[in-house]
This record gives sequence, C-alpha cells and structure tokens, in this order.
Amino acid sequence: MKASYFQRGSEQIDRKALDALQLRRLRATAKLVYQKVPFYKGEMKRLGVAPGDIRRLSDITKLPFTVKNDLRDAYPFGMMAAPLEKCVELHASSGTTGKPVTVCYTPHDLDVWSDVMARCLTMSGLTKKDVFQNPIPYGLFTGAFGFHYGAQKVGALVVPAGGGQTERQLQLMMDYGVTFISGVASYAAHLGQKAAEMGLNPAKDLKVRNGLFGAEFFTSGLKERISEAWDMDVHDIYGLTEMCGPGVSTDCDMHDGLHLWEDHFIVEILDPKTLEPVEAEEEGEVVLTTITKEGMPLLRYRTRDISFLLDTRKCECGRTHVKHAPVKARTDDMFIVKGTNVYPSQVESVLMRFPAVGSNYRIVLYRTGLLDQMRVEVEARRKMPDRDAEILAREIQDGIHSVVTLRPEVKVLPPGSIEQVTVKAKRVVDERPK
Ligand SMILES: [Zn+2]
Repeated sequence: MKASYFQRGSEQIDRKALDALQLRRLRATAKLVYQKVPFYKGEMKRLGVAPGDIRRLSDITKLPFTVKNDLRDAYPFGMMAAPLEKCVELHASSGTTGKPVTVCYTPHDLDVWSDVMARCLTMSGLTKKDVFQNPIPYGLFTGAFGFHYGAQKVGALVVPAGGGQTERQLQLMMDYGVTFISGVASYAAHLGQKAAEMGLNPAKDLKVRNGLFGAEFFTSGLKERISEAWDMDVHDIYGLTEMCGPGVSTDCDMHDGLHLWEDHFIVEILDPKTLEPVEAEEEGEVVLTTITKEGMPLLRYRTRDISFLLDTRKCECGRTHVKHAPVKARTDDMFIVKGTNVYPSQVESVLMRFPAVGSNYRIVLYRTGLLDQMRVEVEARRKMPDRDAEILAREIQDGIHSVVTLRPEVKVLPPGSIEQVTVKAKRVVDERPK
C-alpha cells in the first residue's frame, strides 16, 4: 500500500479504539442535535430518551429515526444544527417527488467530505501522479464536487470536464493523457461505446486505467463490460446527499464488499418492516447516523437502500472498517408487476449476459385494460438485421422469465435510441395511470 493518501491511523484503527471513538462521537452528536434541532428534541422527548442515556454503542437503538419526509417537511433549513453564517456550501438532491433534500456544509464538514472521498479514491488506485477527469455535471448535486475535492486532496491533477458532450470528453482524455475517471457506470459504458464508434479502442488508444463509479447500482455484468472495454480496474462508490454525498464507502482491491468509514458514520442494517436489526450477511435496509457532522447531522437515517454487512472485520487490504455488499437497490426502485416484485438489477443482470446487447436500457411499465404490462427496451451494441434483433429479443425474454417469472415484451433497438443521461440513468419508466 504505497498510495500517497493512505491514512493508516484512521483506516487500520483497531476495533476497540474505533468503537470507543464511535461512542464518543455518537454521544456528542446526540447532544448537539438535542440542543440545536427542534425536530430531534421533540422526537427524543417523545421517545423518553436524553443525550445522557447513550452510554454504549448499542444504545443507538434508543434514538429516533429520520426519514426523507422529515427533511422535506423541514425544507430548506429546518434540520440544520449550525447557523447559516457558519456554512460555506449548499447542495441539494433532485426533487423528483416533493422538495429537494438540502444540505449545508461548514468548513469542517467539507474537510471531512474531502477526506473520506480521498480515502475512497486512494482505495481505487488514485495517486498524485494521476490525471483525473470528472465527467459529472457541476451544480447542486453533490457528485462532481465530492470527487473534485477528494481527488485534489490526493494531489491528482483534476480535469473538471463536467457533464455531457461525449465526444469532447473522449478528446480531453486523449489530449490530457487522463488516467482515472469518475461518474456513473452507465455513462462509462456509453463513453466506451462512443469511443468505438469514433474508431477508438479505449484499451489501446486511451490511458485511462482506473474508474470509480457510483450514484446508481450496477451489476457485476456491467462492471466486467466496462473493465474489458477500457482495460480498467473498476471500483464502486456509495453515498448519498443526506450523509455528505459520495464518500460513505468504496470497495478495496479485494473487490469483496465496500469499506464504510465508521469513524464518520455508524451503519445499522434493519428489517424494513419491523425496524429490528438483522444478522450479519442478512439483507435489510441501510440506516446511517452521521457522527462528525456540524451543519446537518442526522440520526438513524433510513436510506431505503438494501444491502447486508459482511461477517468479517478483517480484510486482506488491512483496513478494519466494516464492509457491506454492493447496494442492491433502493426499496423505492423495486416495482410490482402482476403481483411480482421486480428489481431493475435483476433485469440488468440478464441483459449483460448477452454480448450483442449494449449498455443502455429501460424498463417501461404500462397498462392494457386492467392488466399491468412490462416492456424491456434495450439497445443493441451494433446495428443488426431485424431478424437477428427478434431472435435476441426472444432469448432475453426467456432469460428474464427464468429470473423473475414474468415474460415481458422485449424490444431490441438500434444503438443510440435511448436517451443517455450523465447523472443517473432512469431505468424504470412507469406509464401506468395512478
Ligand atoms: Zn479491504
């Protein structure tokens, strides 16, 4: 482990010291929100718990939950624990339903965010020798800034390319000798496809050899595709605006789970129905508590993300922070068709088995009469005769049927038929009347 930003003291801290640090920080956070955030004072009084009641880590279960609606009700600044004059940056997530979740950062919050991002990037191979291209739109979203701050902290040369303009992105990569890229995995796949159309072979003609991708779940099938097309080591990053943005966890070179930075976040995996903890290796909802935030600390935030913790505290990379499985899906992403629960990742895992299939796809839900229907539209990697497209569509249909017991209509479309977005691919289009 020779990378320049590796923080041995924090990343290889022994379990006892980490537990003690977490407890100290949890107690301070409980006290802070009780004093500064009326919502938490009200909730803690309602539950009959005072900050002083947090004596051991397991006492976290006495503290109130926070859900997205609590943040929307408090829009824009009602959940803040620090006055606005102490804050220096604001970010917000998209408000697809209702008000956007808005978070303000103190200088200390930005330091912590940069630090956890720098750790994640280092874990993915970034060093100060790298030229790092950030093909993410800069704006209210957290993504671009998190990667930008983290990569600078590592000491890499940052190319703030911003979103879109795929051909220009590839041109910049060539001109500047870019070695490391970020973004969402579906966009990396799209870049690879575009490069091929331009007569480039990313594995040979570009120097990009590492990528750290997040903001949407992606299957191991898609990961392998990107890795092969670019001859690139692909890492997966997890995070959410409510915590800091990207930077909560990343997979190390073992590629067996994502290390979650427990000196800044406490993770619980709970049964989403009973809200009781599940066993290690058992799937449940990821619930996170911030323990070092000043601007907008959150207790027991229900992420709606589904994952599980690996039942091991040791990793060959030497890091001691707990590992979780790649986030399977947000519970919000799951949809029900004809009484069957379907996750988009199940569909993607089937699609990625077919080499003739491109990386862009969408799932359209609609209704004929009273009956729910599902149609999977997927781009072919290259133009193909109609007859071949029909045969491929039937094979995909069989594949999906074997996984989700539904037989959706499948349409194989020419490359470039489905709109490509750079923030987060919208995989499910629900056209059913509400
Ligand atoms: Zn590791």
